[in-house]
Amino acid sequence: MAAKRDYYEILGVPRTATREEIKRAFRRLARQYHPDVNKSPDAEEKFKAINEAYEVLSDDEKRAIYDRFGHAGLEGQFSNGGGFSGFSPFDDLFAEFFGFDFGRRATRHRTPRRGRDLRVHVTLDFEEAVFGTEKTIEVTRLEVCQVCGGSGAEPGTSPIRCPECGGTGEVRRVTQTFLGAMVTTTVCPRCNGRGEIVSSPCHECVGTGKVRRTRKLTVEVPPGVDDGTKIRLSGEGEPGEYGGPNGDLYVHVSVRPHRFFERRGDDIVLQLQINVAQAALGDTVTIPTVDGQTELKIPAGTQTGNIIRLRGKGVPHLNRDGTVSGRGDQLVVIEVAIPKRLTEEQRRLFEELGRSLGREPKPVNSRRGFWERVLDWISGE
Ligand SMILES: [Zn+2]
Ligand SMILES: [Zn+2]
Repeated sequence: MAAKRDYYEILGVPRTATREEIKRAFRRLARQYHPDVNKSPDAEEKFKAINEAYEVLSDDEKRAIYDRFGHAGLEGQFSNGGGFSGFSPFDDLFAEFFGFDFGRRATRHRTPRRGRDLRVHVTLDFEEAVFGTEKTIEVTRLEVCQVCGGSGAEPGTSPIRCPECGGTGEVRRVTQTFLGAMVTTTVCPRCNGRGEIVSSPCHECVGTGKVRRTRKLTVEVPPGVDDGTKIRLSGEGEPGEYGGPNGDLYVHVSVRPHRFFERRGDDIVLQLQINVAQAALGDTVTIPTVDGQTELKIPAGTQTGNIIRLRGKGVPHLNRDGTVSGRGDQLVVIEVAIPKRLTEEQRRLFEELGRSLGREPKPVNSRRGFWERVLDWISGE
């Protein structure tokens, strides 16, 4: 490494210079050598040297070490990760004095960012989920402040360049290590990389540019939604940053259970009890469907577990793109009820029937349960 120039020499001040003299010399040289102003090839080198010298000589502790031990003293002092802060005070000062536009360097921190997605819950009745509905929901979200238009500055004022980073949105730190100076760049903590801060904050949003609002929105719930369906309302989430798009609002659907009906995908299952005579002789009965009452023909000889299918009485099929095509079926699962109490007359009739049917029991394969057979039947067809 080439021998480093003396810090006093760089700033052109005597070793006895006061803080004020050092500061004045620094400002004069800064004006002269800042790379944004001075286009000569060695300007940046000189600029860095000036800054480094000022960094040390403006700090009483570092200056004392430098006076006693020279450059080596500072390297020894600050090589163990302690570091000494870099260019930020310089940029601060420079911006303050010359009012340069640093916007060119700040732009990359202002890349558009999409707003946050939000979610709300909505609970529907069984029929609402089947046929679709319109629901009013309330959502509390951040919106762009209408008073300042999102700038965060009180109307009539405008944001000023961040004094911490001089408008670059980033802070450079120089750490002296045994390998030499390490320069790291981090997002400016004062302005969060925006490069500007608000000096007179907007009274409405307190300078944030956003306000929390509770809005009532109307959601078109399409037919055929089910427990767990998510409906996306595009752009109804929180506002984006720097011209980025809004986030989306997701409406999560829950469906209340019905008294009789149960959903199996697009089919609706109804369990129906009939008596022994209806099962044996057949009958026509009135049953509920989601479309209202309808007649159901029970064939003679119907067994417990038999399923009667009513085509097209199920749930409309909701496609992924939100359109609807066709409907499922209603499945009527028959359960033959055996009477537990009998009137005198019923007892007499059953006894008569019993004599006619005979008394020989018949072993059957009972390994498969009732619901197992129902599910087989549903999935099998
Ligand atoms: Zn505002
Ligand atoms: Zn800043």
